[in-house]
Amino acid sequence: MQKILLADPDKQLIEALRSAPGNEHYVFEEAHTGEEVLRKIDEFAPHLVYIDLLIPEIHGIELLKRIRANPKSEGLGVILASTNSMIQNCHAAIKEGVDYFLTKPFEIPFLYILFDRFFEGNLMPESFTPESSLKKEENESYHPKEPDPNSYIKFWGTRGSNSVSGPEYMRFGGNTCCLEVRHGEDMIIIDAGTGLRPLGETIDTAKCKTVHLFLSHTHWDHITGFPFFDPVFDQDVQVVLWSPVGFEKSTKELFTEMLAYAYFPVRLEDMRAKLTFNDLRDGHPVSIGDITIDSHYAYHPGATLCFKIHVAGKTYGYATDNELFLGYHGNPNAIGKDHPLIKSHQSTIDFFKNSDVLIHEAQYTPLEYQRRVGWGHSSISNAAILCKYAEISEWIITHHDPRHTDEDLLAKLQLHRDILDECNIHCHTQMAFDGMKILL
Ligand SMILES: [Zn+2]
Ligand SMILES: [Zn+2]
Repeated sequence: MQKILLADPDKQLIEALRSAPGNEHYVFEEAHTGEEVLRKIDEFAPHLVYIDLLIPEIHGIELLKRIRANPKSEGLGVILASTNSMIQNCHAAIKEGVDYFLTKPFEIPFLYILFDRFFEGNLMPESFTPESSLKKEENESYHPKEPDPNSYIKFWGTRGSNSVSGPEYMRFGGNTCCLEVRHGEDMIIIDAGTGLRPLGETIDTAKCKTVHLFLSHTHWDHITGFPFFDPVFDQDVQVVLWSPVGFEKSTKELFTEMLAYAYFPVRLEDMRAKLTFNDLRDGHPVSIGDITIDSHYAYHPGATLCFKIHVAGKTYGYATDNELFLGYHGNPNAIGKDHPLIKSHQSTIDFFKNSDVLIHEAQYTPLEYQRRVGWGHSSISNAAILCKYAEISEWIITHHDPRHTDEDLLAKLQLHRDILDECNIHCHTQMAFDGMKILL
């Protein structure tokens, strides 16, 4: 009887080989590791050995080399089998004297044909043919779903307080707040910081006749791009402004004063576009086509709003100026859900709750915040408390401090992650930068 050693870590395959039709002509022994193969060759003295190339402990090629170097195993036939076999492995096996290089998976009767051929004395390695074991219909090219290129949120300005420029600001940019939300034909803009000027240059007023511009408030960093916004000089365009009701003057009065000749050569009433001013009220959502924008008062000097944008089936929170937990310098985890600070912020937490993405400032490190209480901006650790209770899993940080260079912001990003880790808040974070685009 011819003796065959079957060496494969796949015990089911070995069982199938042992019990296949034609097995009565052979005596089988099995091995599941490289060491076992060598031992069984000594003990069982097979005439032929079938070895899986990636059998544990000793690689199939190495086993073949040792078999061929051992005078006691002279004449021993070796069939090497390999899943997704590669030409380099096949060539190495042939060079080391393999009798056949078999691609897995294979049909069991085919291996039995190889056994017969070996014992008839005419088994020879064949030239390598790269063959996929997958059926054609199983192997159609995978094309990941592409997001709609005309549906996105783009940051045109991510700097707070005042604009900056210079080599140390190259990475994150220096324009002040401006966000574009576009969903097919529908578009809104939030805030008119210096980022509004480059955004205005991209608006095709032949197609886009109405531009909706939302203002969180009228601090300089949120309005100074307005006089440089191209569409306001186009007589065929209507620019609709939406802003909170101010404490002292209306937005129209403030814009009229900002555009006095002493400050700028074109007065508000001389701008050619049709301008309309609308009040935006906490709790009164506004829909522009398929985009809905909801607002809520922020913790910031004057009447300031933060927003929630519903678009393309998702919700994006947006707060550029929001001093959460005023004066709190402690550990975020020390604030339990029944703490008075949480109760006093409950409506803000509820407003942002479960947003798919929260775009929220955290202008100061905990250390910087010690000296900036009441300036209208949050510390990283206090903003992290909001992320925790609003159950935010994706946080994009914007409204960067003008003192923070690229290097500072990268270090600050690490600090965000460290604080969230330390407080066991499971939230992914990234820093917004001028030009950043989120496809919806
Ligand atoms: Zn601001
Ligand atoms: Zn402000």
